[in-house]
Amino acid sequence: MDLRACIRDIPDYPKEGIVFFDITPLLQKPEAFQYTVDALAERFADCGASKIAAAEARGFLFGAPLAYKMGLGFVPVRKPGKLPYKTRQVSYDLEYGQDTLCMHEDAVNDGDKVLVIDDLLATGGTVGGMLNLITQGGGEVVGIGFVVELGFLDGPSKLNGLPHEYLLKL
Ligand code: 5GP
Repeated sequence: MDLRACIRDIPDYPKEGIVFFDITPLLQKPEAFQYTVDALAERFADCGASKIAAAEARGFLFGAPLAYKMGLGFVPVRKPGKLPYKTRQVSYDLEYGQDTLCMHEDAVNDGDKVLVIDDLLATGGTVGGMLNLITQGGGEVVGIGFVVELGFLDGPSKLNGLPHEYLLKL
């Protein structure tokens, strides 16, 4: 599957000088979408996770179907004010500024084995924040997966030395 052909480059979005890699063409091609979820499931088949955590919004697009396919629970990680129950939160640096992520305080508990999924690894700020949230809850990160990794940024340095997988490197 040529995933590169399913990613659209948008120059100067969301700011001048930034190229945004748009995954919506991939979502529109059923065979590419299925391939992506199936390929991630294959990579993590033996990781021993009991749940998948993914951040809104694009992380949900791959994390939730992957959880369904793998028969795992799903933990939504969201921006402040979006989750209805008590939350824990972390602030982190991202490519275009600073942001905060929240997770329900009972979503990850002592001993939980968590697979972290996102659509794209850029600076690693988002995934770094998610790793902190999971660790705060007492969870163990047993896998980290991306559809796309940007090879010209230093995202892997934010993964606390944990290994990760990606399907396409740009
Ligand atoms: P990071 O936190 O690693 O700098 O940025 C990755 C996060 O921001 C991911 O959650 C991803 O959804 C979003 N993101 C940043 N840049 C892009 C991009 O070029 N394309 C897509 N699809 N997502 C991006």
